[in-house]
Amino acid sequence: MTPMNILMVSSEVFPYAKSGGLADVLPKLAEALDKRGHRVKIVMPRYYGITRYLLDKHPAPLGIPMGDQEYWVGVYSTLIPGTRVEVYFLDHEQLFGRDGIYSEAGGPEFPDNVLRFGLLSRGAFQLAKMLNWFPDILQAHDWPAAPALAYLKSLESAGPFRKTKGVFTIHNLGYQGIFSQDQFKYLGLDPSDETRLGFSYHGGINFLQAALVCAHGISTVSPGYGEEILQPELGFAMDGLLNLKKNVLAGILNGMDYDIWNPKTDQLLPFLYDENNLEGKAKNKAALQELAGFSQTPGVPLIGMVSRLVTQKGFAHLVENDGEALRKICALPAQIIILGTGEKHIEKKLSDLALELPHLQVFIRYNEKTSHLIEAGSDFFLMPSLYEPCGLTQMYALSYGTIPIVSPTGGLKDTVVDRGKNPKTATGYYFPIPLTGTGMVETLAKATKVYRLQPKVHRAMILRGMALRFDWESAGRHYEEYFLSLP
Ligand code: ADP
Repeated sequence: MTPMNILMVSSEVFPYAKSGGLADVLPKLAEALDKRGHRVKIVMPRYYGITRYLLDKHPAPLGIPMGDQEYWVGVYSTLIPGTRVEVYFLDHEQLFGRDGIYSEAGGPEFPDNVLRFGLLSRGAFQLAKMLNWFPDILQAHDWPAAPALAYLKSLESAGPFRKTKGVFTIHNLGYQGIFSQDQFKYLGLDPSDETRLGFSYHGGINFLQAALVCAHGISTVSPGYGEEILQPELGFAMDGLLNLKKNVLAGILNGMDYDIWNPKTDQLLPFLYDENNLEGKAKNKAALQELAGFSQTPGVPLIGMVSRLVTQKGFAHLVENDGEALRKICALPAQIIILGTGEKHIEKKLSDLALELPHLQVFIRYNEKTSHLIEAGSDFFLMPSLYEPCGLTQMYALSYGTIPIVSPTGGLKDTVVDRGKNPKTATGYYFPIPLTGTGMVETLAKATKVYRLQPKVHRAMILRGMALRFDWESAGRHYEEYFLSLP
């Protein structure tokens, strides 16, 4: 098979910029395809927090035409260690030199995001021209990279990109990049193309919709989510369009990074452990309890959450009726620790409840180290998501022998086996759907009962989870097959 040139466009790439799972996926997917012999390059903005002196500076700046205007950006690059994958950073002080990817922490979205991510998308083409390297596949990830596919179908359709296939990868259909119509001009596209390219949306413009219209192929991050987005309930008004392009839609399960999320080697953990000796896990639990200010009462399970604090992740049901469900879970008894940032009202409600409930601790911050300790030190990991395209944190939990309790949706359904369904192969528990506070409490009561009264059953579930492998190698193979299959 001839190796492919693959250019990925993304607003987030770990470890340079991350707000969620998208960032974790990029370098690992790129590496997996690199290992299969393909040449992969990634392009992203150089945000304020990305230190320039650690990167290679390209001698000449890059001009990016955006309609009547031309923007000049600096170009920096680096290699993903152990691979041939180059990450390119577009440096524009005024537009990208900010603390925050889409907004300042907790603040409103930046008002110039159309221009910022339009520039990133158009910049991908200019970069390829500068490098004299043309992709067979242009893979745009989520709404910020969506305009790239519109440029491919319009301004860049005839020249050196005429054979390039555009793929849009949906990491979350709930975020579409919807803006007022007067912002369209910043993209530098012909105004008469707004409808043809799929931007027009209820009097405004919709980045994601344009990408769905313009893409040769559409992929998403789990088979389950790939089916759910075809239905009106989880289609976010895009199900009609997605059904029209069903023949080029693929759901490919993300892998996870076992170099980073591995209890045998994790340098962010105070204690290492493996499936043959879970003592280190118990010590991590004690360390986590200390961090949370919890008592170390034997027999009381510790439940962890690491999540964006947004409605999608099921927090409404946890905090509704003055935190009724959380109060009942604490009374099971169980201790709960939550790490996250997000919607202000959820942050506030959780923080208020934590002041009141001795079995609840809430850390409103973004912290990699604490996230690792929660994954490793908890007995259960909670994900009551209303929808979940793939979800990585439940996979991390499984790797650390922490039993996930999840909503049976999207990637959660594809990665966790419910004890109610098959006790012999079970790795976790499902909440009843539709999700309710009562349903959550009942499921947690069941799970914590098994923890207290059937330790052998609980342990068998832990070991089954730890033995699983959601590897990037097979995800890379699926992407390769998918790219090659595109008409
Ligand atoms: P999503 O992409 O919807 O946010 P995922 O489960 O796919 O959900 O990925 C979330 C990623 O972000 C995981 O790597 C998780 O550990 C990380 N994360 C989320 N919130 C925090 C936080 N407050 N501190 C540290 N890491 C976090």
